[in-house]
Amino acid sequence: MKLVSFLLEGREQAGILTEAGVKPLGATMNEVIRDPSKLCAPADEVALAEVELLAPIPRPEQDVICLGLNYTEHAEEAYGYSKQAFSADRAHPVFFSKRATYCQGSGAPIPAHADLTQRLDYEAELAVVLGKDVRDISEDEVEDAVFGYTIINDVSARDLQTTHKQWYFGKSLDGFCPMGPCIVTRDEVPWPPAMDISATVNGELRQHSNTRMLIHGIPEIVSTLSRGMLLRAGTVIATGTPKGVAMGMDVPRFLAPGDTVVCAIEGIGRLENTVE
Ligand code: MG
Repeated sequence: MKLVSFLLEGREQAGILTEAGVKPLGATMNEVIRDPSKLCAPADEVALAEVELLAPIPRPEQDVICLGLNYTEHAEEAYGYSKQAFSADRAHPVFFSKRATYCQGSGAPIPAHADLTQRLDYEAELAVVLGKDVRDISEDEVEDAVFGYTIINDVSARDLQTTHKQWYFGKSLDGFCPMGPCIVTRDEVPWPPAMDISATVNGELRQHSNTRMLIHGIPEIVSTLSRGMLLRAGTVIATGTPKGVAMGMDVPRFLAPGDTVVCAIEGIGRLENTVE
């Protein structure tokens, strides 16, 4: 099923997406993830016109965990942009953290932060949401720990990313974690996920790949991270972006106010946000 979060009469809650609307679940998405029995008793359907859709998890309980350089051709374009910042040995997954105080949904703006960055970039990514608390699990046990999947635009300020020689600040400004439009539950996606992924800017195709091209797949990512680290239900992991970001172009065309980015993944939908 497809799950969304929304405001109805001023109250944030999760619901099941239907053809004509949503069936409210009377609990937030984080509460539903922690107690999936709440999925079994939805309220009567409400028309989409009556609700304001939000990101499926508007406030992750912890920072989003991200994979760096996890598609071969993207790793090459990043290295071409800055050999110092992106020269990674990729025998093992490259992890970093992205602050996500608030994730905006599809249709909400991306703040340009023009006082801080002149090199605003986009990254379409498949994000996996965990449904269980896990620690020290094998790759074979990962599928059972997955709640579902969504799309994240890992918005990045390349100048901050290289100036500070660490990715956290340049990835974490307010509004840099658009998420949506929904969470697709694990049962609807063949394991491991092999889904077309793309990004367009103002209708121009910039990124196009398939999640089967991940260097380190979801089983390896989650199993590796769980070694010696408790991963809680509701943890969001963005699995990395394919080739085609602005910094990889011969003459980079970074985002500017008015530009619209659409990140799309087969079976999940479209995450559309305009820079303001
Ligand atoms: Mg990324």
